[in-house]
Amino acid sequence: MKKTYKIEVDCANCANKMEIAAKNTPGVKDAVVNFMALKMKVEFEDGADPAEVMPAVLKNCRKVEDDCEIEF
Ligand SMILES: [Zn+2]
Repeated sequence: MKKTYKIEVDCANCANKMEIAAKNTPGVKDAVVNFMALKMKVEFEDGADPAEVMPAVLKNCRKVEDDCEIEF
């Protein structure tokens, strides 16, 4: 399953860090951040519940960039 989320982040460097943090979150198969569009596309592992995975993604992203936001 793939879903796209709107994000807030201040620069392309932090967006890249968010992408890596998202990819390393359990339940996430792959993640791609588009800084120009301020979007994060997340591909979930089979059986993963986005409603449970996304709070963990945001938590991991905030470890690398305190001010970031993901709308989910
Ligand atoms: Zn930044």
